[in-house]
Parts: sequence; C-alpha cells; structure tokens
Amino acid sequence: MDPITGLIHHPYQPPEGFAAPQPGVFKASTVIFPDVATLRARDWRSRAGYSYGLLGTPTTYTLEARIASLEGGHQCLLVPSGLAAIALVDMALLKQGDEVLIPDNAYGPSKALALGELAHWGITHQFYDPMDPQDLVSRLSDRTCLVWLEAPGSVTMDFPPLASLVAACRARGVMTALDNTWSAGLAFNGFDLAGPPGTGGGADIVIQALTKYPSGGADVLMGSIVTRDEELHLRIKLAHVRMGLGVAANDAEAVLRGLPSIALRYQAQDQAARQIAHWLRGRPEVAQVLHPALPGAPGHANWQALCSGRDLAAGLFSFVLDRRYTATQADAFCDRLGLFKLGYSWGGPISLALPYDLSAMRSTAFGHWQEAGPLVRLAIGLEAVADLQADLAQAFDALR
Ligand SMILES: *Cc1c(COP(=O)(O)O)cnc(C)c1O
Repeated sequence: MDPITGLIHHPYQPPEGFAAPQPGVFKASTVIFPDVATLRARDWRSRAGYSYGLLGTPTTYTLEARIASLEGGHQCLLVPSGLAAIALVDMALLKQGDEVLIPDNAYGPSKALALGELAHWGITHQFYDPMDPQDLVSRLSDRTCLVWLEAPGSVTMDFPPLASLVAACRARGVMTALDNTWSAGLAFNGFDLAGPPGTGGGADIVIQALTKYPSGGADVLMGSIVTRDEELHLRIKLAHVRMGLGVAANDAEAVLRGLPSIALRYQAQDQAARQIAHWLRGRPEVAQVLHPALPGAPGHANWQALCSGRDLAAGLFSFVLDRRYTATQADAFCDRLGLFKLGYSWGGPISLALPYDLSAMRSTAFGHWQEAGPLVRLAIGLEAVADLQADLAQAFDALR
C-alpha cells in the first residue's frame, strides 16, 4: 500500500472512554456507514444514528439536547442564525394564502421578511399591538396560521401580556411561536407561561438567537427552534433538511463553551443594567427609561407577573432623551462614548450603544412610550458599572 493511502486509512483507533468537562467536537460532511444495510436503514427523523453532517453530529446533537433543556422543551433544531430560526418557522408552517401575525415591536428583520419574501410568496401578514390582547383577537381570522410573540419587544422593550396573547390564540386553535432571545430560557419558560387559570401551557414553538446569551462571546451566529410536540418538530425538521440549514461544528463548540456560564453572565449583566437604568432615570437629559423591570416602564406589570419569581431581566434596555434634543445630538452622544461601542447584537462582553429612530420602526397607532426625543439602546456587557456610568456621564456633556 502506498504510504499516503496508509496515512489516510490509518488503523490506529484511540481508546474509548475519554472524559472531559467539555464534549468532543466532531466535524463531518461525510459520515461513514459500517455496511449498506445500515445506510439504507437510516431515517432523517431519527437521532439514533448519523447519516450526513447536515443532519447532525455528536456535537450538534449534544448542543440541541442542552438548548432543549434550557428552554424547557423536548426537541431542538439548530440553524445558522437567530433570523434563520424565524425564517425557518415561517417557511415550514406557512403557505400561499395563509396569514401570519407579528407584534408591532418585533425584531425588525422578522417584519422585513414578512414584507419581502413572505409577501412575494402570497403569504400575508398583519402587525398587531402586543400590549392589547383585544387587538390581536380582532385580527385573528380563518387564514391566521401563525402568531409570533416576543417579550419584551425589540428596542422599545415594552413587555406584553404573553399568557393572555397565547390564550387568545389557543382558543382559536392558532399556532404560536415565541422569540425568546431576551429571556434566554432563564428569565421565564416560554412553554410554561403561568396565565389566567385554566389556560395553561405556553407557546408551541420557542426560538432563540443563540448568538446572544448562550454564546456570550459576540463571536458566533446561531439560532435554535425548540418544541415540545414531536409532530410539530418533525414538520419543521423536514423543512430544515430540505433547505440544508446546517451549522458548523466550530460554531456549535463555541456555544457549548458559553453555556456553562450563561446564568452567571445573565445575572451579572442584569444587575449592572438595572443599576445603570436607575442612574439614568435621575439624569436631567433623560425623559424615560425603557427597562421592563423598572416600575413605570411599559409592560412592567406583565414582566412582574411572569418574571418576578426568578427576578431576572436581560442586560438590554433603552432610554428616551428629553424632547429638547435632536436625533443629531443623540448621534453625537453615541459617537462620544468610549467604552460603549457602536454595534448590533448583545449578550457579549463589550457594552454597546445604538441610536434609533422610532418613527420609522412602529405603526404610530400603537405607542406605549412617551412622545419625546430620540431613543438610545444600551446593551450592558461585563465591564465595571462605575466605568460604564462615567462613560455615559462624559457623553452627556456632548449634549450641552
Ligand atoms: C438578535 C436577535 C435575533 C436574530 O439573531 P441573529 O443570530 O443575529 O440572526 C432575533 N430575535 C431577537 C429578539 C434578537 O435580539
């Protein structure tokens, strides 16, 4: 045998039984079958074996099992980003003529997908007022096949009455999907939203951007789709298989490395964010602080009803500047920040700030924030609170 062939087909097998704190990382497109009968017997539905890298490896199965546990679900699918998780749920469950309802304060790209591709495919949508279950009820029709939920809403951080929204959908037999990125499966369980007596349960599908807290490093993109119902899981998995939405082993490894410290990071960023949010409330430049755990913030009572038991919130919030400040001044405020960097995403080690123009993001019919000046969103990282506060304080000087 040629030495190179011998190298490629090397007979050495390491001893089994290796154990370490972190699971091994398996990389494969090709999976090798012991014989043709095994190859023929493989079924895309089963996790008892392996058939192709796209359909799972020990590394992705391990991460899926851990994310399913984190969310309180039974099955999990991994996709290349949080947005891909939203898109896959839409594509798996909606067909021409169907309608999807999306909260007006949803993650922006989810609304853009409805306005773009879903509309092109003959799938209609409505944006509903997430703070008013009656508004949702009034929009449900025989064509409604999916209702998205998100708590709190992106950027405006208004926390909806999730249990009531789910109960309204369940009463009409409409499927619900929750974007649970903010809670990360920690602040509340998306499948178990203690609601009005008798309603029980929670969302049918819980997705998360693993990009945020589970990774914690701001260095990986990934999403998860968790279910409790095997049939629903297989329905989404079939679309997953057909569209080829696999994730890379190195990325799965990065999330597996972040997971053991997720609760510590979540709690640390929560405490730091609440301290800074309280401090901002006392600043003369600030009209309103939009943090669901703060009394007076939009949906605070809903946050309390769902999350006060664990007393957790993500390290993400927004504040509205006084109406005497212009959008240009808000931009100058953000430019002046030093420790806070300008960038999207959150849940990583570095604090981030972004100015937003609400008028371009919301249907003006539903507004729960005070009509005031421009809005700035802060994602609190792992730096010392005093340093972050000093950075904000010096940037407020730019407003003078
Ligand atoms: C970031 C985010 C997403 C998208 O996640 P990506 O991995 O960046 O695609 C979806 N929903 C919410 C609420 C998010 O914050």
